[in-house]
Amino acid sequence: MQNSIADIEKEALENIEKAESSEALELVSTRYLGRKGELTGFLRNISSLPEADRPDAGKNANLLKVKLESLIQQAVSGLEAQDENSISGIDVTLPGRTAARGSLHPITQVLNEISGIFMRLGFDIAEGPEVETDYYNFEALNIPKYHPARDMQDTFYVSENIVLRTHTSPSQPRAMEKTDPPVRIISAGKVFRCDSDLTHTPMFHQIEGLMVDKNISFGDLKGILTTFVHQFFDKETSLRFRPSFFPFTEPSAEVDIRCVMCKGAGCRVCSKTGWLEVLGSGMVHPAVFENVGYDTDLYTGFAFGVGIERMAMLKYGIDDIRKYYENDLRFLGQF
Ligand SMILES: [Zn+2]
Repeated sequence: MQNSIADIEKEALENIEKAESSEALELVSTRYLGRKGELTGFLRNISSLPEADRPDAGKNANLLKVKLESLIQQAVSGLEAQDENSISGIDVTLPGRTAARGSLHPITQVLNEISGIFMRLGFDIAEGPEVETDYYNFEALNIPKYHPARDMQDTFYVSENIVLRTHTSPSQPRAMEKTDPPVRIISAGKVFRCDSDLTHTPMFHQIEGLMVDKNISFGDLKGILTTFVHQFFDKETSLRFRPSFFPFTEPSAEVDIRCVMCKGAGCRVCSKTGWLEVLGSGMVHPAVFENVGYDTDLYTGFAFGVGIERMAMLKYGIDDIRKYYENDLRFLGQF
């Protein structure tokens, strides 16, 4: 019979341990200590034991009864304390927390907007690698090795014949090699130059366009770029085309717009001139067409390039190009 007391104790302790609610503990209590409980039954039948065993058996059973009552009481208090803690951790009267919503980076927004304007004018998107061969970045665009025109672009060389593209123009010979005219493409993306100050970052974004067909003239170039500027800024923005030099176009022109800050009166942004340079453009040089196998007697075309950071600075009145890349949410959250 001593064994069976030990068995009851072992089993009861396991059950108290397992109980995860006060209801479960109540059941454990009933099972051992209730009127028909196992321990109560043992005590009731103690008279059936041999007389010599009765005093020890009765004493042990009573000690176990006290022990179980106390353990169950402790377990109930422990569960109640746990419940109180978990309730006090939540204030159900507080308003809920909303997840912060992000937005597209201003550069991405402006890039999408400019792409959208040209796509509505019938241009397709052409893409090219950011790590480019010297051939596509320079030679195919009529900039031979050791030509002084290369000094216009401070280039990151990966090796003698591999560069980080200095402009998105390499996408143009790549696209022309694959298709015959008519060609109407824009290519946008990251470009890299070894340059860093208030208005330059080593990585920036460009969007360039190319249109090739029979009878494409400088008039078409002016028409497309004027439409673009009017849609991006507003219809009152006037343009001027200023002769310039690019190795891959002839004739070439810089495009200025009437200063969007001072409307031409002269301010710090336009260096008191009333004009802002925003685009490079020109008629595609025949040497570029020869490199991709286009018939220069049959086809003409124009090309242009825009800096996205600059356009976004003018559109939103941002004075320091580096703000785009500091990841300051107080700045980025305004777009
Ligand atoms: Zn101005």
